Amino acid sequence: MINLKAQYNSIKAKVNKDIINVIKSTQFILGQEVEKFEEDFAKYIGTKYAVSVASGTDALHLTLVAYNISKDDEVIIPTFTFAATAFAIAYTGAKPVFVDITEGSFNINATKIEEKITNRTKAIMPVHLYGQSADMDEINRIAKKYKLLVIEDACQSHGALYKDKKVGTLGNAACYSFYPSKSLGAYGDGGAIVTNDAGIATKLKMLRNQGQERRYFHTMIGFNSRLDSIQATILRTKLRHLDKWNKARRKLAETYNKLLKGLPIGLPEEMDYAYHTYYLYTIKLQKRDILRAMLKNAGVDSAVHYDMPLHLQECFKYLGYKKGNFPVAEKLSGDVLSIPMYPELSIKQIELITDIIKKFCKENL
Ligand SMILES: *Cc1c(COP(=O)(O)O)cnc(C)c1O
Repeated sequence: MINLKAQYNSIKAKVNKDIINVIKSTQFILGQEVEKFEEDFAKYIGTKYAVSVASGTDALHLTLVAYNISKDDEVIIPTFTFAATAFAIAYTGAKPVFVDITEGSFNINATKIEEKITNRTKAIMPVHLYGQSADMDEINRIAKKYKLLVIEDACQSHGALYKDKKVGTLGNAACYSFYPSKSLGAYGDGGAIVTNDAGIATKLKMLRNQGQERRYFHTMIGFNSRLDSIQATILRTKLRHLDKWNKARRKLAETYNKLLKGLPIGLPEEMDYAYHTYYLYTIKLQKRDILRAMLKNAGVDSAVHYDMPLHLQECFKYLGYKKGNFPVAEKLSGDVLSIPMYPELSIKQIELITDIIKKFCKENL
């Protein structure tokens, strides 16, 4: 699916040296490297502040805590996303409220948001899935009308654009994951929040570090959710390559599109408003599992993002949803298949993969 080794090899000398320097400095948690990364990341996204934390899940959770989301509140999210989007809401005691997605973009169907708003709704958390922005103008219009917060789950869309604006600058705050496989990935767990809100940035810095304003003076009940300096130094180096890597992903997506055109399968669609960064290249097809097996036989990995929408997951049974509530997400969860996508993927490899898909189509569809 992805090849982290190829990317490591391309930056090995620098990264190895930087890691050794951190070890020599013995400044392992937060500190100068982390501050420098936060500066670089805020500058890259185009926000005033970036606050690093221990994971993307924590970024979402601590952001909700910083905005005082708690029991009795509701937060609107798409049902078709990674479970952590909803977990972050559940951790605060608030209720995740699901909305269906649109088939073309895989993102939240903005026309279905308003019917879910109640007097308990506090925020909308759109997810920019697979590397493509949600329809943010419509979401922000609704948020303004009902005075709701907009918190972007940008964990899959580092560097993506919406109408030439960076994802991450489109709401009150945006959350990123630096899990190793993400488009900007550390060599361990990591995450960050970006915002222009000074009060929220300050609060997040306290929340991530045991609620301390200064050492052993705890202003609030906090968490241990800090980025370590080794991850920060790696992320700083990788950030400099991100635009180039995203461009490579786009080029590879174009090649896939060209070679798969005309087959009876659905290809990823880039919305008019979007600059898609193809964290994942996800196709839609019938008899998906037969193709998966054929790919596997040829030594090609694939993955399903996601087999089951969140409203049908056992852990959210208490919310009372049932099959049929969100037909688009339910259908797509049976049809989607992510095939290999990473900047170092070669055209030859893509040809091998698309040849298998062509053979599959001939024999099965
Ligand atoms: C990866 C991801 C997360 C969680 O990030 P972690 O760093 O793994 O905690 C949250 N939301 C989405 C959409 C993700 O893809």
